[in-house]
Amino acid sequence: MHTTPKKPAVKLTEVKITSNVEIAPSVFLLSFMRDFSFNAGQVLGITNDPSEDARLYSIASGENDPEISILYNIKPGGKLTPPLSHLIPGNSLWITAPFGSFAADNKPAYWIAAGTGIAPFLSMFLSGYGNDNILIHGGRAIESFYFSDKFIPALGSNYIRCSTVVSLNGIYHGRVTTYLENINDLPPDRKYYLCGSAEMVVDCREILLLKGIPFNNIVAEIYF
Ligand SMILES: Cc1cc2nc3c(=O)[nH]c(=O)nc-3n(C[C@H](O)[C@H](O)[C@H](O)COP(=O)(O)OP(=O)(O)OC[C@H]3O[C@@H](n4cnc5c(N)ncnc54)[C@H](O)[C@@H]3O)c2cc1C
Repeated sequence: MHTTPKKPAVKLTEVKITSNVEIAPSVFLLSFMRDFSFNAGQVLGITNDPSEDARLYSIASGENDPEISILYNIKPGGKLTPPLSHLIPGNSLWITAPFGSFAADNKPAYWIAAGTGIAPFLSMFLSGYGNDNILIHGGRAIESFYFSDKFIPALGSNYIRCSTVVSLNGIYHGRVTTYLENINDLPPDRKYYLCGSAEMVVDCREILLLKGIPFNNIVAEIYF
């Protein structure tokens, strides 16, 4: 007799939201207290209904922060993010244990992000990684450069914001890929961390490989 295999049980833990703030149009920073440790760059599964599959989100907090935050944008028609945006402090969420190997080390690196893909780099930055790192962030509007108030004073000219829409002093007018294509001296011995949509990651990886960066020095996290 054929029986449908059961989904492997994923352990979910209930947490109470402490804040859920819209930091840019349709983009929210949601937080809850934690009682576990994690490595900067890791993700968590999150659901508002423990009978449903969890969606994955990068942790956007420092390793020693008392709270876990995640940065998410509302996907119109999405199952989780529209209801997530209505949750208020005190409401419940269910989370998995943190996991993932998109992990920082203390060697100088390039951190390359698009949109909410900045989250793991904020976590690495807040955790004290990234001495002399270059952070390249692609966004549409000026308010898409989440946490620039933290990055500008700390990273100075090592923080590069790219936008095809915004024409402002201090913002590169063009895509992240165009920015990378126009750098001639990318050091091959550094790690290049990529985080964002599949398209962004694939395009950036191709450019880096063509510029002589060894495959093993390119580490990617794809938000699909
Ligand atoms: C490793 C990893 C880390 C991630 N980290 C983050 C993060 O830090 N922040 C973040 O914002 N996101 C992150 N994501 C993405 C996140 O997990 C969710 O996929 C995202 O938030 C959308 O969830 P949702 O339930 O709202 O949308 P979903 O229900 O998954 O839908 C996504 C889109 O597909 C459309 N859609 C759904 N079903 C159908 C269908 N049957 N036919 C056609 N279209 C359909 C919806 O309209 C919507 O636009 C990450 C993903 C991965 C894999």
